[in-house]
Amino acid sequence: MGPGRTFLPGRVPRAHHSHRRTLRSHRKNTKVPPQNTKAWTIHGRGHIRTFATLEIVPHTTDRSAQLFERASRSIPGGVNSPVRAFNSVGGTPRFISSASGYRLNDADGNSYVDLVSSWGPMILGHAHPAVVEAVQTAATTGLSFGAPTEAEIDLAEEIIARVDPVQQVRLVNSGTEATMSAVRLARGFTGRSKIIKFSGCYHGHVDALLADAGSGVATLGLPTSPGVTGAQAQDTIVLPYNNLTAVRETFAAYPGQIAAIITEAAAGNMGAVAPVDGFNQGLKDITSADGALLIIDEVMTGFRVSKAGWFGLEGVAGDLYTFGKVMSGGLPAAAFGGRADIMAYLAPAGPVYQAGTLSGNPVAVAAGLATLRHADDSVYAALDANSKQLGSLIGGALTAEGVGHRVQFAGNLVSVFFTTRPDAAINDYAAVKNTETWRFAPFFHALLDAGVYPPPSAFEAWFVSAALDGDAFGVIADALPAAAAAAARARKEN
Ligand SMILES: *Cc1c(COP(=O)(O)O)cnc(C)c1O
Repeated sequence: MGPGRTFLPGRVPRAHHSHRRTLRSHRKNTKVPPQNTKAWTIHGRGHIRTFATLEIVPHTTDRSAQLFERASRSIPGGVNSPVRAFNSVGGTPRFISSASGYRLNDADGNSYVDLVSSWGPMILGHAHPAVVEAVQTAATTGLSFGAPTEAEIDLAEEIIARVDPVQQVRLVNSGTEATMSAVRLARGFTGRSKIIKFSGCYHGHVDALLADAGSGVATLGLPTSPGVTGAQAQDTIVLPYNNLTAVRETFAAYPGQIAAIITEAAAGNMGAVAPVDGFNQGLKDITSADGALLIIDEVMTGFRVSKAGWFGLEGVAGDLYTFGKVMSGGLPAAAFGGRADIMAYLAPAGPVYQAGTLSGNPVAVAAGLATLRHADDSVYAALDANSKQLGSLIGGALTAEGVGHRVQFAGNLVSVFFTTRPDAAINDYAAVKNTETWRFAPFFHALLDAGVYPPPSAFEAWFVSAALDGDAFGVIADALPAAAAAAARARKEN
């Protein structure tokens, strides 16, 4: 702690109001320390100046800390998905007790403006009444039947209507299942073995696709994962993202042997790294010339970056698609789909086996359908506007503190890279790894302490919702100067 940053002793009262309101109300009364701010030092330039140095006290996180300790006894690492553990940023992962709109509430009574949105799904904000009502109705009429329902057709038709190249879909339970099944189908359809994936792209934790898989794995510092055997990975070829030359050379080296290229429609799992002009089209041209398939993974971008996902922005048609996140409205459901002649190879229509006890689960389908039906043009306009506003607030705050940075967009996915070369586009994973990621943890924690919840990793995109409003952006704007200053003060270790 530097000068003027002493902690008030003892337990800090819970913040029942937004920090912004607390700070505001205390600006009017300079005699009384705001309850949720650190003690401060008068720097001798008058009260107004003093208030510019006010720092918000880190949230009380006793309850989350207790829960994390308890969780760590029964759940490996205390979490059910690694990046939730705050490994790369340090500190106590917040246990969430409830959420509504843009607001997340934790077990200690702190609240946050949510910029993770459950890693993408919650485009409408949390506990949206239309989605909650659809889920309640579905739940009261039976949770699972193991037999087909009409709502599954509705969801399939909604997806097909939105994404032109998708003629048929199969519902599954997670994005991982969707990519695993799409790869199996591509191999079954083409009778070939090899798969190309790109470094820094994540397609779920499918064995064959874990090599160089971006955020989650990178955050833990693992190049790949033990437990993935040579046999499982030997048919996976990993190439640099946005590099068509490497793709052409690989097809020349293995003519007629590559079943498919799988690519994120726009990379979002190494931060937001959009395909350069012509990249996806190039993949399309190369695969179709060789008789291979193009699998476009829209699990992150699908139904978020536009009504028709990345396809809606770019118009390059893949042979197969994978979806998840938004299409399930926050419940476990995902899908893969594409050309009808390929999908006809799936059991029971065809020989490629694929199944699921809970696939097309009625409650998950109801949540997904309600979300998509509610996500009209005004929702997409709000998502785009909110991501622009977020990006420009982040950029402005970092510029004011003289922190070299680059705010990058892929549609309305946004992320911030700390870099000494702000003008150089970051187009692949090597460039991402070259950034000053060590500035991220203090930046993250300053935001968190001020009631803003960004993704807890330098390698992730930030996910806005349509529920963010002027108040939410007020909290973000108030939080950013101290966060930018923390990023400026950061020093690289060792
Ligand atoms: C999240 C994600 C997946 C995996 O989805 P899960 O539901 O977490 O298994 C696959 N591909 C992409 C592009 C993703 O962002």
